[in-house]
Amino acid sequence: MPLPDPSSPLAGLTPRVALEHVTSHYDEGGRRLTALEDLTLSVMPAEFVSIVGPSGSGKSTLLDLVAGLLTPDAGRILMHGHPVTAAERLGQAAYMRQRDLLVPWRTALGNAALGLEARGVSRRAAEAAAFEQLPRYGLEGFASAYPNQLSGGMRQRCAVLRTLLPQLDLVLLDEPLGALDSLTRAELQLWLAEALILQRCTVLFVTHDVEEAIMLGDRIIVLSPRPGRVCLDISVTLPRPRQRDLLFDSNFLEIRREILGALGFPT
Ligand code: ADP
Repeated sequence: MPLPDPSSPLAGLTPRVALEHVTSHYDEGGRRLTALEDLTLSVMPAEFVSIVGPSGSGKSTLLDLVAGLLTPDAGRILMHGHPVTAAERLGQAAYMRQRDLLVPWRTALGNAALGLEARGVSRRAAEAAAFEQLPRYGLEGFASAYPNQLSGGMRQRCAVLRTLLPQLDLVLLDEPLGALDSLTRAELQLWLAEALILQRCTVLFVTHDVEEAIMLGDRIIVLSPRPGRVCLDISVTLPRPRQRDLLFDSNFLEIRREILGALGFPT
């Protein structure tokens, strides 16, 4: 973990989320498998942290822990500086898991409203709130379309709207753009970053795509192969809003080289 820079605007703030020496095991078929080991990580309010790592390095486990779906086997998790149990973490974060699909029997509007309904808002009020947001998510005119009538990009934007509509300040996204073709994905990356930054969310964003991680993040965490540990923690100071031409910027390329090196690729 780099030392805090006293001139940084984040200096002196309490982390929104902190994991201290967290270890997480799975027991499978009588075998104990360590997914994460002694992982320490702090995420500041409104910080956008991208998490990359090889498959099986514990990225989804990390998000499940923060969401309160798992309890660490060792170490602790703090929110706003206070240790919290899994039960206390549940419901604090908006969480879009890797295979979060739209339900086929609800319209785009009905799907977008689901996140708010799960928090006790009536269907009518939730749909009214979702309806207002449709234009921002490129879904204007598609309120009554069913998922099979939407393009892949639209389905993904609808799932993101469902996740963000309850306006929680902590957002966990696990490969939210993973299922998309590269052109749609490139278009949605910048749009998603802007949507989250506008909402001043604290974001943990899991991706296997190094360029996506840099394009979106204020900071990149690289996890080692299982058991996952932080093997690189690097800040991205590229200006926002970011544009695709950053892909050729020398700072961008240097960060990419460092990340690929940490992932064990020849650079
Ligand atoms: P990643 O998201 O980086 O691919 P995961 O967090 O999904 O990694 O998994 C980390 C390790 O834990 C992997 O080896 C995976 O097989 C194992 N694992 C994940 N979930 C379970 C589970 N429910 N039961 C047993 N092992 C699991």
